[in-house]
Amino acid sequence: MTKILLPTSTAGSLPKPSWIAEPEKLWSPWKLEGDDLIQGKRDALLVSLQEQLHAGIDIVSDGEQTRQHFVTTFIEHLHGVDFEKRETVRIRNRYDASVPTVFDAVSRQKPVFVEDAKFLRQHTTQPIKWALPGPMTMIDTLYDAHYKSREKLAWEFAKILNEEAKELEAAGVDIIQFDEPAFNVFFDEVNDWGVATLERAIEGLKCETAVHICYGYGIKANTDWKKTLGSEWRQYEEAFPKLKQSKIDIVSLECQNSRVPMDLIELIRGKKVMVGAIDVATNSIETPEEVADTLRKALQFIDADKLYPSTNCGMTPLSREVARGKLHALSAGAEIVRKEILGK
Ligand SMILES: [Zn+2]
Repeated sequence: MTKILLPTSTAGSLPKPSWIAEPEKLWSPWKLEGDDLIQGKRDALLVSLQEQLHAGIDIVSDGEQTRQHFVTTFIEHLHGVDFEKRETVRIRNRYDASVPTVFDAVSRQKPVFVEDAKFLRQHTTQPIKWALPGPMTMIDTLYDAHYKSREKLAWEFAKILNEEAKELEAAGVDIIQFDEPAFNVFFDEVNDWGVATLERAIEGLKCETAVHICYGYGIKANTDWKKTLGSEWRQYEEAFPKLKQSKIDIVSLECQNSRVPMDLIELIRGKKVMVGAIDVATNSIETPEEVADTLRKALQFIDADKLYPSTNCGMTPLSREVARGKLHALSAGAEIVRKEILGK
């Protein structure tokens, strides 16, 4: 792993080229099929990697060019879920969506992203991070007609995620990240079994592990929800004590332009923290000084060797130009603070 101070990374997705999916749209369907799609995804991955390297991002990813949706693309590869049989459910208590049905015991019959991760590994010597959905966020995106228990289904998914994670580690992935926006919503479940199922998903891994907890993409359902949260967003306070005790190495958080009181990070003192210093819900590009300012505030609560500058969430709905600008701002902002720390 990198020894550089304040290594930069993104929380997740980057915009897709227009030849593979309609740009500036969340969960945009693929424009290609079959072998063309396989080839197209790889080409998009290489473009996305190049954009990150060119912007000076230290820990790189596939930019999620390999998936249409951060949860369902993984689930599509599993047995036990019927994508034709759909039911409407409420996602994260916030918006209704038509989702697939769990009709049988879930299992993973073959690797999902392992070949893509090997391909990324072949094309860079930088540390790489791979994102998977977390168990609690997975169950919240399905209708369960089989287990009829959110907790039971989450444990099953944790086991499956662990199988995938072990193969990703063997493929050379340095950090495996689990996306758990649901941790910001279902506080009782997080503490009863949410963190425990996440720890099941990372069992036996030697690579670093991360959990990404955010307030979501800049879609209307999320921005409307944020308006109801009041002047201080204290959701993180609920999961942090349990996360501090957990074996998870890194916690990825939304900090830029958010109303999260920065001092909540004190509750996970000792963990590495990916600090979101780029707002993904606006087209205005942060200045390097704005990024630096957020990082300086975070340094009050995180030791410098544990601070990882990052983005609030994925950037897939943004234009490629805006995303590119934000990546450069992140690098430049981190460099300002790096110099300040090393100059001391
Ligand atoms: Zn996110």
